[in-house]
Amino acid sequence: PETITIQELANRMSERGVDVIKLLMKQGQMHKITDVIDADTAQLVAEELGHSVKRVAESDVEEGLFDTPGEDDHLVSRPPVVTIMGHVDHGKTSLLDAIRQANVVSGEAGGITQHIGAYQVVAPNGAPITFIDTPGHAAFTAMRARGAKVTDVVVLVVAADDGVMPQTIEAINHARAANVPIIVAINKIDKPDAKPERVRSELLQYEVQVESMGGETLEVEVSALKRTNLDKLLELIALQAELLDLKSNPDRPAEGTVIEARLDRGRGPVATVLVQRGTMRVGDIIVAGSQSGRVRALLDDKGANVTSAGPSFPVEVLGFAGAPDAGDRVAVVESEARAREITEYRERLKRDKAAARGAGAGRSLVEMMS
Ligand code: GDP
Ligand code: MG
Repeated sequence: PETITIQELANRMSERGVDVIKLLMKQGQMHKITDVIDADTAQLVAEELGHSVKRVAESDVEEGLFDTPGEDDHLVSRPPVVTIMGHVDHGKTSLLDAIRQANVVSGEAGGITQHIGAYQVVAPNGAPITFIDTPGHAAFTAMRARGAKVTDVVVLVVAADDGVMPQTIEAINHARAANVPIIVAINKIDKPDAKPERVRSELLQYEVQVESMGGETLEVEVSALKRTNLDKLLELIALQAELLDLKSNPDRPAEGTVIEARLDRGRGPVATVLVQRGTMRVGDIIVAGSQSGRVRALLDDKGANVTSAGPSFPVEVLGFAGAPDAGDRVAVVESEARAREITEYRERLKRDKAAARGAGAGRSLVEMMS
């Protein structure tokens, strides 16, 4: 149910809290300033004090922000978005770096690449692939908790000398819960004690049946260290993407997800955004969580300025007034007024929720007496 604290209600009406309390007292209700009252009571109070009330439902404010109609009228293929998961020390970072470096064209800024949280490479068949560069189950879980579905394919890294470990199993469960296909990359195949066959049979226990065991899960043996079979891995990802037939409409205002964000000393708030639908352009008015702004510049994963970014493209976005949170969904809106309406509403919602918690809703009697 919608609720508000007496303090917040008074603030919004620019009335004194004590006057609200007095009015409620006249109606036989005893309250402290920190108490939470329901929306109907709040409306009565406000009207009694001569204010007009406009109750805004979340659906009104957020209406049309995401999944707007017209999405389906012009779908074109988009690159797959891949997350690498697996147990600690099995080689996630090494693999991400190896794939990235193998793809860096010589002479490109001396081979120095930006780390913006995501990058794009090209598979041997010429198809682009986007990697989320922040391996880790925490990020994956945080995004899913915010309703952001970012990943199309999970590459499950399992070290051939170590086998299936607790975080391997966690990753399998994450991928399954998100309904995302797994490609198994058996890593460290260069090691003398590598036992890829053992990995395959261990995976069977978790119902991951790779192709060589008669299943349908794509698999490849790799060495991030020796850069063995990296092209094969990219080919498999491209193949998996074709099977998924990933499509999106580039001709609409952009929507996406914040992959990471920070406050940069020189540049101000910088957010890496994965565009998922539509095309983001310099000059667009954007909202993410309770932050908004106007896109001042877009930079690709090589640090180069771009004027626009389409579906599955990761870009650094400059122009937010403050840093949003990783996992926040981003949308382009038509005006600054609309952006303000949304962010103010979300800010208020956050405050109300915090106040409701602070007011001790659900606190036990024991706690209240101590
Ligand atoms: P992460 O924790 O999954 O990100 O794993 P890292 O990429 O940090 O790798 C953990 C350790 O394994 C590092 O010492 C790497 O050098 C090593 N390593 C990663 N890939 C390979 C590989 O293919 N072969 C060998 N021999 N060592 C590897
Ligand atoms: Mg790592």
